[in-house]
Formats: sequence, C-alpha cells, structure tokens
Amino acid sequence: MHDGIWQAFAAQAERFQATLRERPVQPTLDPYALRTELARRYDFREPVPAERLLEEVGGLLAEGLVQVTHPRYFGLFNPSVLPVTVLGEALAALYNPQMAVWSHAPAACELEHRALAALQGLIGWDPGEGLANFTSGGAESNVSALQCALAWRFPGWDREGLTALGLRPTVYLSRDAHHSFVKAARSAGLGTAAVREVPVDAARKLDPAALERMLDQDRAAGLHPFLLVATLGATGTGVIDPIGALRGFADRYGLWLHADAAWGGSALLSPALRHHLAGIESADSVTWDAHKWMSVPMGSGMFFCRHAEAARLAFAISAAYMPPPQGEEVVDPYTTSAQWSRRHIGLKVFMAMAELGLDGYGRLVEGQARLGDYLRRRLLATGWTLANETPLPVVCFHREGLDAPGLVARIHREGATWISSLALPGGPTVLRACITSYHSTEADVEALLAALVP
Ligand SMILES: *Cc1c(COP(=O)(O)O)cnc(C)c1O
Repeated sequence: MHDGIWQAFAAQAERFQATLRERPVQPTLDPYALRTELARRYDFREPVPAERLLEEVGGLLAEGLVQVTHPRYFGLFNPSVLPVTVLGEALAALYNPQMAVWSHAPAACELEHRALAALQGLIGWDPGEGLANFTSGGAESNVSALQCALAWRFPGWDREGLTALGLRPTVYLSRDAHHSFVKAARSAGLGTAAVREVPVDAARKLDPAALERMLDQDRAAGLHPFLLVATLGATGTGVIDPIGALRGFADRYGLWLHADAAWGGSALLSPALRHHLAGIESADSVTWDAHKWMSVPMGSGMFFCRHAEAARLAFAISAAYMPPPQGEEVVDPYTTSAQWSRRHIGLKVFMAMAELGLDGYGRLVEGQARLGDYLRRRLLATGWTLANETPLPVVCFHREGLDAPGLVARIHREGATWISSLALPGGPTVLRACITSYHSTEADVEALLAALVP
C-alpha cells in the first residue's frame, strides 16, 4: 500500500532543494486562513492516502514557512541543513532506537559517544573526561547546567531541596545572555529574581568589575551565589564574554562556571577561529548546539559536563521497570541527563562529522565567518554604522534616523531576503543580519544590501 512513497519523498526533497533559491523566503500562504483551511481539508474521518499527504503537507511547508534554509535568510541562528544530516534524521526515525538505556541501543549510544568525544577534544578536554549528552537544544542544556551546579555546590540539595537547606541561590550572567536561564530558574524553584543580570562594558561584554560588586553585595545580603554564565557568542550580538577573567571570579567565590556557547561553540571547529573561545576548556560545563551553526536540523543540542559526579547527582535515578545497568564502562543516558525516552538526536551530527571530516567542517564554518566579514565591510562602505563587535558572522547595524522595525517589515513583505531587528538593551534598535547558510554567497549578501536601500 505504500509502494513508491520513499521515491516520492526523495523526489520532493530534491525538488525542494533544487528550487529553493527561486522561492520567496517569507511565507506566501495566508497564515490566518490556514487554520480554517486545515479544518476543512482534514476532518480525520476520511482517511487520506500517504502519497497524497506527502504532496499536500510538503506543499504547505514549502509555502507556509519562513524558509530558514534559504541562502538569503539572514535571520536567527537557524541553519541550512546538509543533505547527510537529513539522512541521519530519517535513519533515526526509521530504526527508532530507544536511547534511555545503553543496552537497548548500543550502536546508537556508541555513535553518539564517538561524535561527542571528538567535540570534547575540541573544547580542550580529554575524551572521556566528564559526561556529555545530546539534548533537545540549548535551553535543555542550560537547565542541565543549572541542575548540575546546584547539585555540585549544595550537598543535600538533590534530596532536601532548597527550602529545607535554607538556601537562596543566585545565578550571574550578562544582560545580553540567553533568557533560557530565566525559565531554568523558574523550573528549579529559584524564581526569576535569582537570575542576576550583570551590566556589560562598552563592547557589550559582561563587566567583571560590576560582577564583583554584585557578588559582594548579594553575599552580604544573605544570598548564595552558585553559578556564573559566560556567554560565548551572545544571541543578539555574537559578543564573547571574557571567560578567563570569569574563571578567576568563579574560583574566588566558589561558583560553577558554565560556558553558553550554543551558537558560538561551532567556532571551535575552525583552527582559524578557535582562539576566540580560548578559556572554554576551563568551564565546568558547556552548552553547544549543533542545530545553530553546524548545518544540522533542529533538536540537536549538546551538553558537556566536566564533572561526571555532578551529572550523576543531578540526574541519578533507578527504576524497577528499566533494564539494569551494564557495568562501569557505559552509562545509561536516562541516569545522567534530563530526558527519559529519547530519540537518536546525535546521529545526524555524527553523519555530518564523518562525511565532512573535522577539517571540512572547519572550512564550512570559516566560509560563513568570511562572508560575515564581507557583509561588515560592505555595510561600512555603504554608509552604515556597526553596533556590535564580534569575530563571528552576526552583524548589528544602524544609521541616523533609522526606523528598523519599519524597514524589516518592508523587507519581509518583499520576501526576497530576511533579516531581523533587535532592540539592544540600553541602546538603539538596530538591524541584525546573521550568515546562517553554507549556501550563502557574496551575491546573496549584495541582494540583502540592495533590499536595505529605501
Ligand atoms: C539559542 C540559544 C540558546 C537556546 O538554545 P535552543 O537550542 O534555542 O534551546 C541558549 N543560549 C544561547 C547563547 C543561544 O544563542
């Protein structure tokens, strides 16, 4: 009954990728009519053949999305996907390994372990040092960091909780850090007031002097600082915090140092860019998303923890209905990470690493960084002012009298390119363009520059 659907799927994938450049980046469907249309078409009473669904749903996705894999999408950290990673995604769905316990999916667990061990080496850790696992994304990795830090810093927290221990733990991060820590603090019962935003300096990096004042004041007020976050590639601006100085504060004040390199971590793949993240090896834990700048589909975050014991304290569990552990050599992911049943997230990352090789991956990332430099040069040459300082390919820019939201709305209406605007905390609202696709070229950047002209 499903004769030919795999060929039809392959044909659709090829057609989509081959015609993407000619398509608009912005949705052409009327998003507000969509709900009514779907209710009319799919009542779930009349069965719809798979072949027809493949065509219809494919059509909806082709016309009803911001096409983030388009070479003229200069938007948020959403990459074009390497074909081999789509194969990895499909294989993971086809075999559907259960990744909760090693004994259920040894091949899948070991493929992931292989990929993570190599990336751990790039962070500067010994392969096998600490624990690493794939996550649903950076938000889950940051929650994991917070839990590991709590478990490590406050013995008894995992059993007694904060209230019994009389704790008021606080987290320190730059004003430009990612807001997943706000959600993380809520879910851990800390409350959002526990997230202490540290002012930034003129280059928008976390200001160590301001951090020191806050730590001293908070300790004097009876709070319990336990976690310091170094953002290595801020979401809005790509700015890299001074992690070396922050390690010093973490040591002096007994804090867990977490490096949030969700997007920027991929600079480690390039020998030419790696030095910008120097000091990341001194972090106690690292967030790095493959789905931000490794050209891998959504849902592939990574969490690296240097102290295996902390991850065990945070996540250890045993349940009679689960298969027994297999001994010292291997860990059951559900006992050292947040998820329970888990899909084979890391296969697509493994496939890309194996196909490109680390040298090839480095070149891919460097090509995008170079295109970011080209964009910066061209903006300066055409009268724009740059508003951020980073070696990574995200550019914030503005000029006198700019109506950034108005310009962005017009560019979206035209549909040929895509950028965003950003209200810089404590600064102007600027335009923000990020090189997110390994397909993007100088001609695509020129198309963006042309779209900026009133
Ligand atoms: C994107 C991002 C996150 C959140 O990651 P998700 O994969 O979207 O959950 C966290 N930190 C930084 C710095 C990010 O850029």
